[in-house]
Amino acid sequence: MNIPANPDGTHKLEKNALHIWPRKDFMLIALPNPDGTFTCTLFLNYSGSLSFESLQERSAVQAFFESNFADAMDYLENPVDVFMEKTAAPLFLVQVFPWSFNRKVGLIGDAAHAIVPFYGQGMNCGFEDCAELNRLIASHKHDWDAIFPAYENARKPNGDAIAELSKRNFVEMSDLSGDPMFQLRKKIEAKFSDLHPQLWTPLYSMVTFSPEVPYAEALRVGDEQNKVMERIMALPGIEDDWDEPYVMQQLLELASEAFG
Ligand SMILES: Cc1cc2nc3c(=O)[nH]c(=O)nc-3n(C[C@H](O)[C@H](O)[C@H](O)COP(=O)(O)OP(=O)(O)OC[C@H]3O[C@@H](n4cnc5c(N)ncnc54)[C@H](O)[C@@H]3O)c2cc1C
Repeated sequence: MNIPANPDGTHKLEKNALHIWPRKDFMLIALPNPDGTFTCTLFLNYSGSLSFESLQERSAVQAFFESNFADAMDYLENPVDVFMEKTAAPLFLVQVFPWSFNRKVGLIGDAAHAIVPFYGQGMNCGFEDCAELNRLIASHKHDWDAIFPAYENARKPNGDAIAELSKRNFVEMSDLSGDPMFQLRKKIEAKFSDLHPQLWTPLYSMVTFSPEVPYAEALRVGDEQNKVMERIMALPGIEDDWDEPYVMQQLLELASEAFG
């Protein structure tokens, strides 16, 4: 779906952001384009009580948008017409191993590890396969008997990790992003990361903005960070006290223990 630009070509919503209308089991997102428009995607179950399958009649689609996305209706351009015109595209995962066959054929990109698109990393993961393969071709001097196993063993754990992270990010986007405690947790993490960048890079930044951190490492560190943040969020009165120095002090002690 589309959000058109203002008449003067500016964006109708903040342009340096991914916008999410989280509705737990489904969500609408809007990604900014340079021309002032936004491209929007509705992620919804394929079948079930509220799903693409159940939304066949125009009146049901109209009611669906009005009751679930009233706050987006002023922006969207004819969402009901667009919905009725389009066919939903299924999302699916590919998880296979080995990625090579008879030392003659190797899989790269989605053929090896198609993932759900909620981290925006699918294509990047394919490019990482290419970079790794390129490195191994050079280091093994074109010996494909050595290159194929080294390639698939190096990349498979990272493909699995980004598949897992992408699945989790659906929950984060469609459900948790609307939860005030989750937002508070992100705020505390961001503040701590600003104060101690050597100790803490938020998971999203590790995955998206840290090419030197492999996905498998980001997943492992992110899980450790989760454990630390669970203890911080369990502090009595954290909603009111989150900006107090003792919270950062406690986080520093826990993070130093885990990552120092
Ligand atoms: C909604 C959505 C949003 C996404 N957003 C992002 C994002 O923000 N960032 C990101 O990095 N990634 C994103 N991705 C993932 C990204 O699009 C894919 O990871 C990437 O396109 C995979 O590239 P590929 O070359 O491995 O496979 P493909 O792009 O699938 O290319 C495979 C090609 O092989 C062709 N083909 C298939 N069978 C045959 C055959 N038998 N003979 C000859 N040709 C054949 C196909 O037609 C196709 O052209 C998104 C994906 C989706 C679905």
